[in-house]
Amino acid sequence: MANDLFLASPIPPALEIALAERFTLHRDTPPATTRAIVGGGMMTVDAALLDRLPELEIIAVHGVGHDGIDHDAVAARGIRIAITPDVLTEDVADQAIALWLAVERRVAANDRAMRMGNWTVPLGRRASGRRIGIFGLGKIGQAIARRAEGFGGDIRYTARSEKPVAWTFVPDLATLAAESDVLFVAAPGGAETRNVVDATVLDRLGPKGVLVNIARGSLVDEEALIAALESHRIAGAGLDVFAEEPDVPYALRRMNHVVLAPHQGSATREGRAAMAAMVIANLEAHFGGQVPPGLLG
Ligand code: NAP
Repeated sequence: MANDLFLASPIPPALEIALAERFTLHRDTPPATTRAIVGGGMMTVDAALLDRLPELEIIAVHGVGHDGIDHDAVAARGIRIAITPDVLTEDVADQAIALWLAVERRVAANDRAMRMGNWTVPLGRRASGRRIGIFGLGKIGQAIARRAEGFGGDIRYTARSEKPVAWTFVPDLATLAAESDVLFVAAPGGAETRNVVDATVLDRLGPKGVLVNIARGSLVDEEALIAALESHRIAGAGLDVFAEEPDVPYALRRMNHVVLAPHQGSATREGRAAMAAMVIANLEAHFGGQVPPGLLG
């Protein structure tokens, strides 16, 4: 039986080695006998690709994002999607808090200045006791909220539905932004959330507000964000994700009240090892006739 697996996007070398022990890997052109696709959370799996793969059974995501997958086409074929939930949640939440603190306390800007030989003490902004807004209160959003509690934050959130949590539910994003000093973006990408953080939301966040995006660049209208930052209509931004990765607009790179990271959220040694193990576990369960532990839906 052919065990052809298509790598739809680059994955860590250790995972590739583990997969090569179990499958015949294909990188550029998947054969029609392909039974599994593996790739990162940003990979694209569209209807045209699916049409070429009549024997495809499972798409195993090395990550939790799946906004690049054509869900209707996959569902119509009964193809499984498996992700790596839980094992990256805490790392991404850590990254969100790191970016937030780096903006408020000028960590990156001060580091740059001191490396140039400068010793000045510009005033940062207090991080403790702030109004914390979270857009998308899933696994990562809740992990951010738990951390923000440690900073004495007054936490509110919005999602598609209210959750059984002690934090305050706000019905829409614009209201959430207006009631927040810091707005964390932690909802999935995709058509439903494209550019939801627009000029209106940023203006509601206001000149003392900080935006932190660890979700997907597609959720934020990047041009509107640049305009709001340049005119100081918001106070700053911590960005792990961008509209056109790996391209980061020069306008974002030159502003000191912006802290940038190269989609670092889940990229810890520990997290990546656990994610790789879960990709393997998902595939082994599927091809062993079991339900993959990270099965979506
Ligand atoms: P999750 O557990 O599925 O949570 C997603 C949350 O977003 C849920 O609260 C959901 O609300 C909410 N949501 C979904 N669609 C929404 C909409 N249209 N409007 C408002 N809220 C909406 O996902 P997660 O594990 O927390 O991950 C969140 C996202 O983070 C992923 O989709 C991925 O894109 C991104 N991510 C980034 C990195 C990184 O390295 N930077 C790493 C991992 C993940 P309901 O429950 O009400 O539907």
